[in-house]
Amino acid sequence: MITRRERIIELLSTTDVPLDVHQIALALGIERSDAQSLYEDLEHIAKSLRGKGKVLLMIPPTCKSCGYVFRDLSKPKRPSKCPKCRSERITNPQFIIEK
Ligand SMILES: [Zn+2]
Repeated sequence: MITRRERIIELLSTTDVPLDVHQIALALGIERSDAQSLYEDLEHIAKSLRGKGKVLLMIPPTCKSCGYVFRDLSKPKRPSKCPKCRSERITNPQFIIEK
């Protein structure tokens, strides 16, 4: 039995382009409504890859209104509001695993 997290690692290790949680959900046949729970998996994956010569990279979310980039996120997530202009039009962070 291969676990959901192993499937995510496999997917993000083989993809050519970074993927957001909706694309990951689609690729793995996970319900769209369940896509938010992938952030928790990604957080665990980032920790579990440490020391294995691989790293989970996150393309940070950006504000579509003013271009603010959320560079200092401590966890994989999509912020709900821009701290600069208060807009809620924020892009999803995208993920890829590199060696
Ligand atoms: Zn903004």
